[in-house]
Order: sequence, then structure tokens, then C-alpha cells
Amino acid sequence: MKIWSSKSADKKFSEKVRSVGVCQRPDCPYCHNVKGKKLEESRFVLQCSHFWGRNCSATRYEFDNADCFCSGTHFKWEGEKAGAYRNYMIKKLGKKRYDELERLHNTTISRRDSIIKLMKELE
Ligand SMILES: [Zn+2]
Repeated sequence: MKIWSSKSADKKFSEKVRSVGVCQRPDCPYCHNVKGKKLEESRFVLQCSHFWGRNCSATRYEFDNADCFCSGTHFKWEGEKAGAYRNYMIKKLGKKRYDELERLHNTTISRRDSIIKLMKELE
């Protein structure tokens, strides 16, 4: 079995996250028909956002750690990880799973092992 490169794994993970096709932020001010315009008519695009940053392999390919957001919210919420983004995550996951994800973020696994886990999840 050939192990994907990080670049390839990132691409497949991001594609899967964005496959929901809409921004996951409730009442997103950037793309929910703002002034009657739909996302595809705006300057925003859908992106894969990581709550815990991508430099941690243990949560880099964890679907609970990722959301499909429009680029407006993705950019804005990078600075809201102690605020609105955190509140969103707790609501989405429940406090128990949120705490588990935080613990996972503080564990060390190799990039290779995280990619193998992702490959199994996506096969
Ligand atoms: Zn949005």
C-alpha cells in the first residue's frame, strides 16, 4: 500500500469536508443570501477550516476538527478560536467530544500514522 503524501492527503481531506457544499456557520453573514445574493454570486468560496491548527498531525485529518466555511467566515474565525468559533465547536460536538478533541490535539502521532488513518476512513 502506497501512503499518500501530506499534500495529497490534505487535498482529499479538504475535498471531503467541502463536499457538504454549503457554509456550516449558522446564519453566516457572508454567504446566506446576503442582500439577496447567493454564495456563488459573491466573492467568497468554500474552504476547509481547521479548529485546531494543521501543524498538529493528531487532529489534522480529524473530521470533527474541520468544517466547510466560506472564505469570509474562515478568515474571520481564525481570530475567534477563543470566542465564536469555540462556541460553535462546543455546540456542534458537545462538551465531552470537544474536550476529547482537545486531548487528541495534545497527543503526538506521526504524520504517516495520521495519513494511514485517513486512508482507511476514506476508502
Ligand atoms: Zn459563510
